[in-house]
Amino acid sequence: MTGPETALDALDGLLERAAELIARARRLVVFTGAGVSTESGIPDFRSPSGIWARYDPLELSYQNFIASEEGRRKYWQLGRELYATVRGARPNPAHLAIAELERLGFLQCVITQNIDNLHQKAGTSPERVIELHGNATRARCLACGEPYTRDEIQARLEAGEEVPACRCGGIIKPHTILFGEAMPLLETLEAERRARAADCFLVVGSSLVVYPAAYMPLYAKEAGARLIIVNLTSTPLDEHADVRIPGKAGEVMAGLLARVRARLVR
Ligand code: NAD
Repeated sequence: MTGPETALDALDGLLERAAELIARARRLVVFTGAGVSTESGIPDFRSPSGIWARYDPLELSYQNFIASEEGRRKYWQLGRELYATVRGARPNPAHLAIAELERLGFLQCVITQNIDNLHQKAGTSPERVIELHGNATRARCLACGEPYTRDEIQARLEAGEEVPACRCGGIIKPHTILFGEAMPLLETLEAERRARAADCFLVVGSSLVVYPAAYMPLYAKEAGARLIIVNLTSTPLDEHADVRIPGKAGEVMAGLLARVRARLVR
């Protein structure tokens, strides 16, 4: 051995196998969760320092948001804090590597559970991003449909409004799927269709415990795709993976991209 082995050296064999699967793929679908964005400074839900360590998910449900002014006040209290983080966040090497896979002609689409807009900020074409849980940069009135940017709403929250309402008096709701709310039909169907058509399905930074989103890797696998899972901690679907890479999304994705590129110039 020539020097101290880095964590990435230890993962070398796994990265090589995964890069081989990606380089051979004709229909690569990438599936991302909150873990792809923690290196951009956005906390995930389930890690020890995640959002659920500080807030009760049940209090922030869709039902509570709709039912009372108090429910909405609690929601916007967290929303104000979270959106400030989301707005200031920059894509990290994992988002950038995924965008580069598109430029190299590998990527069919990204199915994301994230609401942070970081794939688009990294340069992935918006039409290739399927957002299963909405997008935090937009909001709209549930009564008249009036659209609002989340920046506008944030300015109102920061000016002291606790529960922003529409000009018509209706409830303004962020364009994100809250706990207990139905999934967006078109996006869910499209994601399922893309997952079933994939020949390589790459999961990056998801605990794979939130359904129906977590069915996507299973649909892909059922239809014959190779499954790669990149996640810091183990997931319930690890046994289905052809390659499971336990590492940080940024390092792993940068390493994978370099190895895919190396195969292009051979
Ligand atoms: P999750 O919190 O359940 O799981 C995140 C997973 O990522 C964990 O298993 C964790 O070990 C792993 N992880 C954390 N940092 C990582 C890193 N640097 N590299 C690799 N893996 C890492 O999140 P989920 O699976 O996306 O599902 C929960 C819900 O969280 C989704 O519905 C999503 O909408 C929502 N969410 C989104 C954001 C965001 O938009 N950035 C942030 C928080 C939560």
